[in-house]
Amino acid sequence: MIPFNVPPFIGSELDYIRKSIQNHKICGDGEYSKKCHILLEEKTNCQKVLLTTSCTHALELAALLADIKPGDEVIMPSYTFVSTADAFVLRGATIVFVDIRPDTMNIDEKLIEQAITPKTKAIVPVHYAGVACEMDTICDIAHRHNLVVVEDAAQGVMASYKGRQLGSIGDYGCYSFHETKNYSMGEGGAILIKSPQSADRAEIIREKGTNRSRFLRGQIDKYTWVDLGSSYLPSDMNAAYLYAQLEKADKINNARLKIWNQYNDGLSDLAEKSLIDLPYIPEECTHNAHMYYIKCKDIDERTKLISFLKEKDILTVFHYIPLHSSPAGKKFGRFSGEDRYTTKESERLLRLPMYYGLKTEEVDYIIEQIHTFYKDR
Ligand SMILES: *Cc1c(COP(=O)(O)O)cnc(C)c1O
Repeated sequence: MIPFNVPPFIGSELDYIRKSIQNHKICGDGEYSKKCHILLEEKTNCQKVLLTTSCTHALELAALLADIKPGDEVIMPSYTFVSTADAFVLRGATIVFVDIRPDTMNIDEKLIEQAITPKTKAIVPVHYAGVACEMDTICDIAHRHNLVVVEDAAQGVMASYKGRQLGSIGDYGCYSFHETKNYSMGEGGAILIKSPQSADRAEIIREKGTNRSRFLRGQIDKYTWVDLGSSYLPSDMNAAYLYAQLEKADKINNARLKIWNQYNDGLSDLAEKSLIDLPYIPEECTHNAHMYYIKCKDIDERTKLISFLKEKDILTVFHYIPLHSSPAGKKFGRFSGEDRYTTKESERLLRLPMYYGLKTEEVDYIIEQIHTFYKDR
């Protein structure tokens, strides 16, 4: 059986976890958390990067830092994971869904401006499959309307737009280190913060509303409760697992890109015959091979292909059911304009197995089976 996903494991994880235990410092912000912070700050050129317990929590932290209040409106695509919306719904915001572009599956930047009302507070671009949204246009709109930009870069670690790392372009960026993502710590994430004032406040909110971080750095002689807050620090054992992979980020990235290119070359003839569509990467985007997907003719053909491949021991998955069509999406949000592509394109999309360690022969086998399926179509 070829699974859809296997959590990344590079080899040094157990060593580092052992060291974190021997340090007698397994809570948050220990040695390995700090190493991850520094590595990510250097890699992204971002003022401040802080590990969190998930990307969901990074998004919640961003919503708190952006001071989202009941009645505010937040613009995002409907084609995304629930957490993108949940983080803002928790603050009482109404979600305004905007249609996606059929080529990248990202929010259509040309439709954002017409979704803005006097209540709009933030735009949340989601970099689907590690392929960047049209950030120059989005940041320009945000600037002109005085809106906050929170990048959901859960899938965008080590991917870039015009040379800038995803997550470091807007006011806040959110990464995921869930086991299904390119780099993992089981459950985990990070927030990237541009402004120094917000970085100070993020440290406080993340530490239960206390200034404990400043205390630990010796900047104050006792710590106290100064703001609202929660607990968003992952254990240092989890950070140790992640650090092993971040150290070898290029190795993991290259291996994934190789698989991605193998799929793309091997399936290109089917795309030329217009039997399927393949992913599109805009020129200004450097992606990270987070995902390889194809698009079938319609949902019916996709369902048949999924079961065909399953019979051949290949596990593939689809996602997402657009949020605006779900019960909570209807309650907490509304769709701005027409749903031209969100539903239609999401019903065609199929994700193929993609993980660090997937073998060349396995990818060849998957490509071959997809050809078999399309032989008589
Ligand atoms: C995975 C993912 C999340 C959630 O990440 P967690 O770390 O599991 O909370 C949020 N948004 C997108 C687009 C994702 O792919």
